[in-house]
Amino acid sequence: MNNFTFQNATKIIFGKDTEQLVGKETALHSKKVLLHYGGGSIKQSGLYDTVVQSLQENGVEFVELGGVKPNPRVSLVREGVALCKEQNIDFILAVGGGSVIDSAKGIAAGAKYEGDVWDFYTGTPIETSLPIGVVLTIPAAGSESSAGSVITNEDGWLKRDALHDSLRPQFAILNPVLSYTLPAYQTACGITDMMSHILERYFTTEKNVDFTDRLCEGALKSIIHNAPIVLEQPTNYDARAEIMWAGTIAHNDLLGTGRTGDWASHNIEHEISGIYDIAHGAGLAIIFPAWMKYVYKHDVQRFAQFANRVWNVEIDLNDLERTALAGIKKTEEFFQSIGMPITLSEANIDDQYFREMARKATERWPIGNFVKLHEEDVYNIYVLAK
Ligand code: NAP
Ligand code: FE
Repeated sequence: MNNFTFQNATKIIFGKDTEQLVGKETALHSKKVLLHYGGGSIKQSGLYDTVVQSLQENGVEFVELGGVKPNPRVSLVREGVALCKEQNIDFILAVGGGSVIDSAKGIAAGAKYEGDVWDFYTGTPIETSLPIGVVLTIPAAGSESSAGSVITNEDGWLKRDALHDSLRPQFAILNPVLSYTLPAYQTACGITDMMSHILERYFTTEKNVDFTDRLCEGALKSIIHNAPIVLEQPTNYDARAEIMWAGTIAHNDLLGTGRTGDWASHNIEHEISGIYDIAHGAGLAIIFPAWMKYVYKHDVQRFAQFANRVWNVEIDLNDLERTALAGIKKTEEFFQSIGMPITLSEANIDDQYFREMARKATERWPIGNFVKLHEEDVYNIYVLAK
């Protein structure tokens, strides 16, 4: 096991009606906030009214900035930064999913910086940022307690991330009922993303990581069990609650303690959603199995363990490779069963940009830790995903 420091300071407030606490919780941090949200789902559901009322009742003044798109854009982040600076705003309240939260994080970092916020997404380290609070509406990205923010620059359609502990929200309100209104497709994209966050950590070269292996396997099994239930019964509170909590734990860094994660599949996917603007989860359903097929020979034993413990494939001691491949097939079939595309062509993506995407994904350094991938490898993975 590697040495590690684990600190995740986000206060999680979980359960029915918890969104009503948002004003009280926000008032502990600020009396003037930026209320940041997406394209309108929170207005349709009535959540917007609840949040506004709660802020007003607790004497919190707010300035609004809606309109965050999925695959959030740096142009809106820059607008938010300017608003915060002009109006002396010292707290960002994100009401929505990963896109809104990531946009809020960009604004939070940019508001404390003299230069252009995109610098943070191209290598300049973040030193500090404004505090953030979250009301989560879709279990998926885990951004509600992660240290990361992923933003797309329309100039070149680059999708890049920035990381800093100060980006972890101060609090995250998680009411599973708020996820009832999610379309099945978005629910499935979220499930795929949270599973991918676990898989990125599971496929490590570290050997003595039994405890976190089993945490990862247990989390995956619970998601696999509850996914069809939430898809068939969108208002099943218990199953929605399991999925919502799983999404946070999948990406709050606990499951990565003592081990180095891989993250190549996320990088390879970001090139796709950056250019084609598809949902991140859908892109991962396509890329993750292709990545698995490309790299499994580097540690057949680990892939066989995954097949056995997560998918209940019987271990064939005479042919571990067969076991490993069966686990990859099960993963692919599962994504398909929840309505995800598993090939690029299903998502109407042809090979036109394979070379360019492979070059962009590896332009700074080779990606991945389980196996280091260079431009040609990433190109081959796009071809495998065709
Ligand atoms: P999202 O992009 O925030 O939202 C997807 C769609 O779902 C939007 O159209 C949104 O509509 C809608 N929606 C959200 N909640 C809803 C609800 N309760 N009812 C009905 N519709 C709802 O989804 P996401 O998967 O959470 O975030 C994806 C982004 O996160 C990607 O850019 C991905 O790269 C990034 N990501 C970040 C991290 C991290 O740690 N920071 C990790 C993984 C992925 P409205 O806009 O109308 O609300
Ligand atoms: Fe992700």
